[in-house]
Amino acid sequence: MATVARLRGDAFVEFIGHAMTLSVSPSDVRVETSVKLRVEGIPTHDCERIWRGGVDANAQVALLRTAEGSANPCRHCLYLIRTGSPKLVLAYRPFVALQPYAESGPIFLHAQPCAHYESNNVPPWFDHLDPAIVRGYSHDDWIRYDTGRVVRGRDITRACAAILEDASVAYVHVRSKYNCFLCRIDRC
Ligand SMILES: [Zn+2]
Repeated sequence: MATVARLRGDAFVEFIGHAMTLSVSPSDVRVETSVKLRVEGIPTHDCERIWRGGVDANAQVALLRTAEGSANPCRHCLYLIRTGSPKLVLAYRPFVALQPYAESGPIFLHAQPCAHYESNNVPPWFDHLDPAIVRGYSHDDWIRYDTGRVVRGRDITRACAAILEDASVAYVHVRSKYNCFLCRIDRC
């Protein structure tokens, strides 16, 4: 069965110093694909270390804060932390080994242990990402810049599946428009 994948190249990311502007055009992703996705939160053993008071990617203990607003995703259960609830703020590096492309950045976790997200689908709230960044990584964990796209939230699944049609791509990261890591997506 032939796969039809068409990504328009008129989405762009513009970096001006530390300011980043994202723009995504309508109908930027139209994909029919047979790739089945495995969507997971970050590994439970990483979170258990933090919940026990261990240090983060910067060798610092996570900060305890109160969630405010609706943009506090827990990267373990991939649910949004309710406003007014405690959250942990920490630096996380979503790669196993250190290498030049192993970026770390800020993430949130529920303050108390939660269930690990595992699904063939992204969480429904991803539809409201405005927009999101998706990009593939090679089998040596280097960024595949040619795969990077800025997409509307409801196009994330199709965009990730299209990237994973290429066997030389190992997995995909979904990141916020600010480049904060949200989750990794593999082939099922
Ligand atoms: Zn959680």
